[in-house]
Amino acid sequence: MPLKKKVTILGSGSAGLTAAIYAARASLQPLVIQGLQAGGQLTITTEVENFPGFPNGILGPTLMEEMQKQAERFGTEFIYDNAKSVDLSKRPFKVETSSEEILTDTLIICTGANAKLLGLESESKLMGHGVSACATCDGFFFKDKVVFVIGGGDTAMEEAVFLTRFAKSVTLVHRRDSFRASKIMVDRAKQTPKVKFLLDTVVEEIRDVGKGEVTSIVVKNIKTNKVEELPADGVFVAIGHRPNTDLFKGQIELNENGYIVTNGVKTSITGVFAAGDVQDEVYKQAITAAGTGCAAALEAQWFLEKEEHAQPQGKINTKKAEAVLHE
Ligand code: NDP
Repeated sequence: MPLKKKVTILGSGSAGLTAAIYAARASLQPLVIQGLQAGGQLTITTEVENFPGFPNGILGPTLMEEMQKQAERFGTEFIYDNAKSVDLSKRPFKVETSSEEILTDTLIICTGANAKLLGLESESKLMGHGVSACATCDGFFFKDKVVFVIGGGDTAMEEAVFLTRFAKSVTLVHRRDSFRASKIMVDRAKQTPKVKFLLDTVVEEIRDVGKGEVTSIVVKNIKTNKVEELPADGVFVAIGHRPNTDLFKGQIELNENGYIVTNGVKTSITGVFAAGDVQDEVYKQAITAAGTGCAAALEAQWFLEKEEHAQPQGKINTKKAEAVLHE
């Protein structure tokens, strides 16, 4: 027998859990399909100092555990699994995990986006311990330090310039000698005295995994094959993000970079909402994700209320509901 829900939320990062808190407090008994990286990207960070309400900072994993407890307190159900498939072609929408089939009146997509990584073993081992994929989040920890930014796109330029507020020196390492970034961003980085450039260069290793902190990087010039070890305190990987939208391809409108297109938090499908990084190419912050998660839950609640209003027996009448929505 499929599970029947009014609100199903895909993803359990800051957007998904905030949506769950709001939907649960509206007595909608939401279901959260957590995904196998439960808690989302904050679970791979250490200290979070920019989430309001924690003047002394809070560990990313702890923040997510607290949000989950808050959602549970008001009656959210959780399934620790990935969604394997979704069918958004008709309502109720269908979501399948490896063990459950769920029919849901509304769906809130909060599957996030993952920072692309270089793929080095040392990079993943030192993530959160000197290696970061978010300068806005972690730049503050690098006061008077020597940092490297990897990438040649707008994000890398922006992060390099931003990091000069804190760091003693910032070196941008890029694998080519020309940039994907827009000219204005490159010019801004070039005009920032503290930013140096290391071009035609790839990072081969980040040291020192044994010490659990960044002490140096090993780089190779791909034109000369010269390898050198450079002292470092921090490495910011800024080579782009990948939204987790494979499940929805062909069913919902995505932009050219694969992000869900939203109007507020409404998607191209009535009754499907999206919140957090899966629809946000710009801010990508835990607090903005939480904000859109809240908005998505409110929109789902209002959508269901309008529908109930249109159908006094409380049964779903999609045609009537759509007519109400488009009034
Ligand atoms: P992009 O995809 O634009 O750039 C990624 C960069 O990382 C490229 O220079 C690429 O190199 C490099 N790269 C990719 N994979 C690797 C790898 N494995 N090893 C080394 N280098 C690698 O991503 P961004 O995050 O920079 O930008 C995403 C979007 O957001 C863009 O549309 C951008 O314009 C926008 N943006 C706009 C901003 C603004 O206007 N203020 C600020 C930030 C982002 P290569 O070029 O050789 O492929």
